[in-house]
Amino acid sequence: MLAKSSSELVRQQNSALVLSALRRHGRLAHTQMCEVTRLSSATVSAITADLERAGIIERIEQQAISARGRPRVQFGQRRDCGYVIIITISSDVIQYSLVDYAGTLLDRFSEPRPEQGPEQFLAAMQSALERVLSRSRIARHKVLIVSISSKGLVHPSLPTLVWSPVFGAKSVDFSNLLGSGWEASLVLNNETLLVATALSRQQDSPGRVTETDLAALSLGHSIGLGVARRLGSGSPEIIAPNFGHMLHVSNGALCRCGTSGCIEAYAGFYAILRSAFEAPADRIPAKFVPLSEIEKIATRARQGHRSSRLAFRQAGIALGNGLSRLLSLYGAMPVFITGPGTRFYDLLQDGLEDGLAKTLGVRLSGMPALTVVADEAALVFEGHLLLAFSRVDQEVLHMIGRQGQVAS
Ligand SMILES: [Zn+2]
Repeated sequence: MLAKSSSELVRQQNSALVLSALRRHGRLAHTQMCEVTRLSSATVSAITADLERAGIIERIEQQAISARGRPRVQFGQRRDCGYVIIITISSDVIQYSLVDYAGTLLDRFSEPRPEQGPEQFLAAMQSALERVLSRSRIARHKVLIVSISSKGLVHPSLPTLVWSPVFGAKSVDFSNLLGSGWEASLVLNNETLLVATALSRQQDSPGRVTETDLAALSLGHSIGLGVARRLGSGSPEIIAPNFGHMLHVSNGALCRCGTSGCIEAYAGFYAILRSAFEAPADRIPAKFVPLSEIEKIATRARQGHRSSRLAFRQAGIALGNGLSRLLSLYGAMPVFITGPGTRFYDLLQDGLEDGLAKTLGVRLSGMPALTVVADEAALVFEGHLLLAFSRVDQEVLHMIGRQGQVAS
C-alpha cells in the first residue's frame, strides 16, 4: 500500500511539473516537454496520456509546412477544463474578468463601486458574478476559483479585507460571497502583492538576469508596497506590508487612516493636493482626488510654481525615507515603481533619491535600481493569473488523484 501511495505521489509531482511547464512556456511538443521538465520520454508520455484522459490538457495538431510532412503535435491546457473569475477592486470601479483554463480572457466588464457600506458592496459583487455567468453561459460549477484584489491590508489567512482606503477599518469579509451552488475557491490578495508576484516571475524568465529580491511600490491615491524575497530555492515569499501607513513624521500630517504622520499623509494624491494648496495638515481635503487635479498641480510645478513643486518633493522624500527603512531591514534590492503616480515621477524623483541617499545603508551599498513600470493594471492581472492558476492546477491534480484512488 505504502509503495503504491509513494509512486502515486511521484506521479502527481511529475504531473504538476508538466502543468507548470505549460503555464510557463505555453503549448509544448512532446520533446520540448521532456527538455523543460527533464522527465524521461516514457514518463512524459504516461502523464500527458493521463492528463488528456482526465480532460485537463489536449493535443493540438498543426499542419506541417510541407504537404508530406507529419503534422506537428503540441499539448496545451484544455480551455473548457474550468474557468477563473478575477475581480479587481479600485477606488471607483470594480472590474470583472472571466478567463478560461488556458489563460485566455473571455469577457470583461466594470461596474461603479457602490458608495454604501460593505453589505451593499458584497451584494453588488454577488449580482455582478451572476452577470459573469449569464453573459458567458458558463455553468457555476465550472468556475474553479474567484480571485479578488484590493488595496489595503488583507488578513494573512482569511479572505478578509482588514483595512482599506474605501471602507477604512470596517472590515470586509468575502468568505460568504459565493453562495450555494458555487464550488470555486475564493482568494483575496493585496493589489501590490500581485504586482510584485508578476515582476518576480518576469525577472526569472529565461534569458533575463535573475534578481534575488525585489520591491514594487505603487503610487496613487494610496501607497502600496509588495516585496518578493527568495529565502531559498523554490518560489519567492511575497508580502504586502502596510507601507503607506508606516510612520514618516511623528505627530505629522493627518492621514486618511485616522492617525498622523504616515507616509501616505505626505505621498498620497490627497496629501500632494493638501500641501500644494497649503491647506491645514490636520484636514483631509477629499477622500479621492481626481487625477486631473493632480495633473493641474504637476503642470504648475513644472512651470516652477513653488508650493506645487514642494508638494511633490515632500512626497518623494516620504517615499525615499520609507524605502530606506525597507532596505535597512531586508537588504539591497531593486525597486519597481508603478501606479497612476508614475506620471509625476519627474517631479518626485529628486525628493525620492534624497530621501534614500541620507541613510547609511544606501551610502554603503549604493542607490537601489529604481525602474518605472507604468502599466500597473497589466501587472495586477498577470499576478492574479499566476497565483490563481498555480492553485487551480494543484486542485485539479488532487481531484484526479482522488478519482484515481476510487477507481483502483
Ligand atoms: Zn495612515
